Amino acid sequence: MSAQSSCSNGSSCSSCEHQKDSAECQLKATLSQIKHKIVVMSGKGGVGKSTVAVNLALALALEGKSVGLLDVDIHGPSIPKMLQLEGVTLYTSNGQLLPASLGALKVMSIGFMLQSADHAVIWRGPMKIGVIKQFLTEVCWGALDYLIIDSPPGTGDEPLSVCQLIPDAAGAIIVTTPQAVSEADVSKSVNFCQQLNFKILGLVENMSGFICPKCGELTEIFSSGAGASLSGKYNLPLLGKIPIDPVVCRGGDDGEPFIHHYANSASAKAFASVIQPILALDQA
Ligand code: ADP
Repeated sequence: MSAQSSCSNGSSCSSCEHQKDSAECQLKATLSQIKHKIVVMSGKGGVGKSTVAVNLALALALEGKSVGLLDVDIHGPSIPKMLQLEGVTLYTSNGQLLPASLGALKVMSIGFMLQSADHAVIWRGPMKIGVIKQFLTEVCWGALDYLIIDSPPGTGDEPLSVCQLIPDAAGAIIVTTPQAVSEADVSKSVNFCQQLNFKILGLVENMSGFICPKCGELTEIFSSGAGASLSGKYNLPLLGKIPIDPVVCRGGDDGEPFIHHYANSASAKAFASVIQPILALDQA
């Protein structure tokens, strides 16, 4: 991606007319066109953060909202695979990079720029921060109702950059699994947001029991309750509990998100409670 030499937003960016830093001006201009920016994060990897981000973005798009999905997991971008967008070619227009599209959903990920899916990105903090800034300033997102940002696990450079670059974000959705070990790690994400004064919209407990595909019975495979416990401890809404469900995993592997391709599954029904408060943001 090439750096922009001037603020391309012209007259609509009058508040920063005299600003010397054109990148900052461009960032403000881009963000001002996006109504609700939501970061999906977790203190722990493998808890289903990308799964939640993909299905949330798609669910909002299916509700007729204009939605962007930004994958800032620089070292482990899984969004292209989860949406069957691997190998897409990206184009530019007026010096800006056009996001990949899946119907009305606009998608950007470092994964689109890698030579192959198993290519390792070996970057230090400043390079990661730079590319995240470029994803926000040099990608032609246009006017959006929602931008969902899938952040890598932990409290490192990527979530920190996103929170600092988007101070007016609607907030974070924090994903946990039911076990106590997850609770300890996810607490760090809660503390991270609190220290940065970054709002938390709520928690999602994923892999919350297993629903037998034959009889529909729910079995608690892991110890349970991290979502409810975190919710009580930090006074945060528990937005939903998504069971372990083979269709969720299959949907991720095959690029067929469960919210759409398995809309009648128990998981898709459980996910409905996660979507409602996010949809309500646009009705406020
Ligand atoms: P993270 O982004 O937190 O690393 P992912 O969203 O990539 O986690 O999920 C890790 C793996 O677990 C993926 O293969 C995904 O399909 C699977 N998975 C996530 N949630 C569920 C679920 N509720 N039931 C079954 N498999 C799931």
